[in-house]
Amino acid sequence: MNAADILKLYKNSENDALIAAADEVCRNVYGSKVYLRGLIEFSNICNIDCLYCGIRKSNKEVKRYRLSEDEIIDTVSSGTKYGFKTFVLQGGEDPYFTTPVLCGLVEKIKKINPEAAVTLSAGIRSCESYRLLKEAGCDRYLLRFETSDPELHKYLRNGVTLNERLKALDNLRKYDYEVGSGFMVGLPGETEETRIQNALLCRDYNFDMVGIGPFIPHPSTPLADALQMPLELAIRSVALVRLFLPEANIPATTAAGSLSSAGRERMLAAGANVLMPNITPVKYKKDYELYPGKICLDESGFECAGCLEGRVLSVNKFITYERGDSAGFLHGKSAVS
Ligand code: SF4
Repeated sequence: MNAADILKLYKNSENDALIAAADEVCRNVYGSKVYLRGLIEFSNICNIDCLYCGIRKSNKEVKRYRLSEDEIIDTVSSGTKYGFKTFVLQGGEDPYFTTPVLCGLVEKIKKINPEAAVTLSAGIRSCESYRLLKEAGCDRYLLRFETSDPELHKYLRNGVTLNERLKALDNLRKYDYEVGSGFMVGLPGETEETRIQNALLCRDYNFDMVGIGPFIPHPSTPLADALQMPLELAIRSVALVRLFLPEANIPATTAAGSLSSAGRERMLAAGANVLMPNITPVKYKKDYELYPGKICLDESGFECAGCLEGRVLSVNKFITYERGDSAGFLHGKSAVS
């Protein structure tokens, strides 16, 4: 389908037709596979004050934590024993994690598990920082833009502009990362047109990974009284992005599972092909509360992997522990070589 056909389907069809088309495109590229990533939330300390975020700098109710290097390495070692081949290290913009500290961590992870892909989600950094992290062995980088509406972005991120975010995403491309981004759905001030533009931005940047989560208002943020929009909107966005980016990796996000018990399954049925169990040590999990009602806080992510198997089977897919590089990224590489 060309872009006009995709948008026509999105705007004019019943949900079922849109979702079936996205599912078919996903299965054509990835079959029935769902890649598993081990998510490690290494710090909830953040210097930024995004209005929607539960761990924003101004939220004084948060019990702050930072995993020690040993805790991170132990978690990766456990994940390796369970067969994980991707580790996603995600944190707030914590000044402790300088480039040398992160490079050292990446190098150690690669020593433990040379085959594994390391994904970092550690905010906007300098070109030099991205270069050094890549040299240290980092494979993938996640930086969600959250909304393609420049004014809304500036407001929600307390002054940080969309352009700064996009510039950083451009810089990541220069260093040959698998580049991930994504957006929230249902933000106050967002319209249907915003959601379409979000998907088009993903297409134009040809992201290798796109994370899409419903916005869930956090009671300790300035957006506490915002309306909770239906999950349906996020499911439709997953389907739209899948149609625009057949070869991207698209996670069924934990936020979807938190808003609705079958939320992740619905995303998997609408074109998502990745799950990210949270393998952060259990004692810290509840303190990384980006939004309220987050699921799976009392069990280790390794137990979650067992539960996820059944959920995935319910949509006729199966879990694989393969590294799962994005098909688009691999094609790009083979085209160059
Ligand atoms: S969204 Fe990220 S950058 Fe913004 S306050 Fe939360 S952790 Fe910090």
